[in-house]
Amino acid sequence: MTDIVKQEVRVRFAPSPTGYLHVGGLRTALFNYLFARKEGGKFILRIEDTDQKRYIQGALDNLMASLKNMGLDYDEGPDVGGPYGPYIQSERIEIYRKYTEKLLESKTAYYCFCSEERLENLRETQRKLKKPPMYDGKCRDLTESEVKEKLAAGIPFVIRLRFPKEGRTIFDDVIRRKVAVDNSVVDDQVLLKSDGFPTYHLANVIDDHLMGISHVIRGEEWLSSVPKHIFLYRALDWKIPVFVHLPLLLNPDRSKLSKRQGDVAVETYIEKGYLPEALINFIALLGWHSADDRELYTLPELEQTFSLDRINKAGAVFDIDKLNWMNGWYIRNFDTGTIADRARPFFETHGIDVSDSAKFEKVIAVTRDYTSNLEEMPPRGRVFYETPQFSEEDNVLINEENSKAIYSYWIHELKKQSEWSKEDLTKLIEDSMKVLSLKGKKFFFPLRLALFGNTHGPDIPTIIDILGRDESIKRLENCLKSI
Ligand code: GLU
Repeated sequence: MTDIVKQEVRVRFAPSPTGYLHVGGLRTALFNYLFARKEGGKFILRIEDTDQKRYIQGALDNLMASLKNMGLDYDEGPDVGGPYGPYIQSERIEIYRKYTEKLLESKTAYYCFCSEERLENLRETQRKLKKPPMYDGKCRDLTESEVKEKLAAGIPFVIRLRFPKEGRTIFDDVIRRKVAVDNSVVDDQVLLKSDGFPTYHLANVIDDHLMGISHVIRGEEWLSSVPKHIFLYRALDWKIPVFVHLPLLLNPDRSKLSKRQGDVAVETYIEKGYLPEALINFIALLGWHSADDRELYTLPELEQTFSLDRINKAGAVFDIDKLNWMNGWYIRNFDTGTIADRARPFFETHGIDVSDSAKFEKVIAVTRDYTSNLEEMPPRGRVFYETPQFSEEDNVLINEENSKAIYSYWIHELKKQSEWSKEDLTKLIEDSMKVLSLKGKKFFFPLRLALFGNTHGPDIPTIIDILGRDESIKRLENCLKSI
């Protein structure tokens, strides 16, 4: 009999509520979610809000709404609860204090009474010497009586990690394989701040342990924190989770993804009319690829296919052109009703009344080609709701002899029937070209311009089918009158 029990997969997305969901955060959340679903494990949302200065009201609601909007439902979290709550760190302060006591007892942590001023001077000196900013260990070896004295005198303090100065920390990362860090470059990290709040490192390790996290999947920027975390796990005699550090997200010039070179808030992409399904698909391929390099995936398909061993080490470029292509693909390939529902608010924002659903779906069907996001659609669809405006150049064409003949003929013919099918209209085109002895541009340009406000665009039967007979006649009459 084997005593190896396969540990349940429990992963977490642990954002600090900064006000919006960063695309990098979405990638971390997605990879955690996919891994949990693939392995039949649990996906947990934990809010790391112990840095009180950065707290923004409403940020939490916004974050939870964004995750749900993306389809990333979590099994445990602030609003859904779970057996390991609370899931908001500011509600767990007592827990962190308790473990800080243990660390102090085992001397793996120590009191530091250095003033802000001293630390600032220290940093300044190190800056000048081009040395990395690190605590110099002044309080590391205070005696117990010195500590007692200072505590009794009410001197403000922080608690620091007593990180070994010698040797190396060696650990495994699923993506980076073996990683070795010289202990001499690791700082005596502050664990508990003077306001009694924990820092990220302390709270993160304690919660990952108490919440039974099996795999820590997060951005590569946290790789350098791992030695501190490992030291804490060992100090508390806890099992170390599996580490998975995801490759950095890069701008096209391969610098770290930044606001300066494009949008980074998921909400901004949604506002611009990127579909959650397309964003998820695009983000999934930032650092991961399937065995056959397939590009298009639904979320359930990703849940089946995802695996940690196909995550790359190299940074992943956030290529907006690719996102535009992918979003356009989804806009063209989802059923028309779905795209109409998604696009409706965008048209309404442009003041276009799209309450006639049957007409609106027809408009969507012709405006979704060559579109990369929903925001581009209202300016293109507007012409089906408002009489076109003509330029000087348009008026020259409208005023041509042939145009007048075309308009008169079409007004006369359209009036003969109350309903026009596309087939009837195709027949009318053929007949009128014969009667008027016109073809090609000479025929189509003036007609399309009058009806659609542009010489290029959808075919005439499609335009008239959307506008309806009466509106089409009205537009032709307007042009005829202006001649
Ligand atoms: N709170 C950290 C962040 O904002 C979490 C990092 C981690 O996953 O350990 O990204």
